[in-house]
Amino acid sequence: MNNRIYNIAIVGFGGMGGYHCQLIEPVSQISVIGVYDTVEYRMELGKEAGYKTYASLDAVLTDELVDIVLIATPNDVHKDIAIQALQAGKHVICEKPVTITSKDFNDIVKVANQEKRVFTVHQNRRWDEDFRTAKDIIDKKTLGELFHLESRVQGANGIPGDWRQLKDYGGGMLLDWGVHLLDQLLQITDSQIESVAANLSYILGTEVDDGFTSYITFKDGLTALIEVGTTNYVKLPRWYLKGTEGTAVIRDWDLSGEIITRNPDVAHIEPKPIQAGQGLTKTMAPPSEQSTLKFAIQKPDLEEQSFYENFVSVLEGKSEIAIKNDEVNRVLVLIETIFEAAETKSVIHRSI
Ligand code: NAD
Repeated sequence: MNNRIYNIAIVGFGGMGGYHCQLIEPVSQISVIGVYDTVEYRMELGKEAGYKTYASLDAVLTDELVDIVLIATPNDVHKDIAIQALQAGKHVICEKPVTITSKDFNDIVKVANQEKRVFTVHQNRRWDEDFRTAKDIIDKKTLGELFHLESRVQGANGIPGDWRQLKDYGGGMLLDWGVHLLDQLLQITDSQIESVAANLSYILGTEVDDGFTSYITFKDGLTALIEVGTTNYVKLPRWYLKGTEGTAVIRDWDLSGEIITRNPDVAHIEPKPIQAGQGLTKTMAPPSEQSTLKFAIQKPDLEEQSFYENFVSVLEGKSEIAIKNDEVNRVLVLIETIFEAAETKSVIHRSI
């Protein structure tokens, strides 16, 4: 058994930099060796937590004990730090959104390939239980063939913090939360995208979007509505899935929700008309209880490597990387297309 310990230095010791320490702790083969931040107070926090603090990025990169650099700074400096770290011979993990453009991302990948170092992006929400549960329902064809999905996150707290509200730092909700929901979406189907429509919202008056809605169609006929909102005092469900045999709703990260499917053992029973507003309707009456089956949402039993377990396993040549660079690139191209669709107020027909 290999007991090698890989040392990781954290560049950018803010909210997410600190959180990574918690993610790394259970993985015995990675150890946080030190932190570097441009703000003194953040360095003090690092010291208090017992980590070595570096006086500069150069000091991190020339420390031969550092095997991996984790980048958890605001988005605008990810590229420069990543390239410098790779050229210094370090493996690199970068927070999302990895870069603001796909071109910048491909520049990093080129250097990673030249230097033969591992470069990956912390698309951690691929491990989220709500996503895994939705994907499990879809993969097992519990709803028959999926033909429409809605995936959204909504809050009422505006855009948090400071740099997230500024364009130069790569702020805005499409880059911040959109990158997660779009990354998840592209894991759900193998089909190529056919068209993209989108609207960005600027309710809060910031120079960056405070949310967006995008309608995406795939070549296999699947349609997806992806939405991020920061001005929603009442929120819609996290997931809404429609298949040829049923519908599922996952209301929140707590996995509350239900699945209702056609009962294959009972012939369709005509619903009775119901009073709806000032009229009667049969079309919109709920399906009869006898002709449908109702299930609770169940968490799938998936035993998988965590993000960091996978990273170590890749360094040791035992696993494929979980977050692949071509997948990251595809998400960035989709984000660029959403910006373009919103700016031009048009439906972009593009194979992605
Ligand atoms: P933050 O503002 O809390 O922390 C950023 C830190 O980087 C600050 O301490 C700042 O002083 C430092 N910094 C800025 N420029 C620097 C530089 N050139 N060199 C070294 N340090 C520098 O922001 P945050 O919320 O921690 O976000 C950081 C990154 O993590 C962003 O890319 C963000 O999108 C990402 N993030 C990811 C998730 C996730 O779930 N994957 C969640 C939150 C944030």
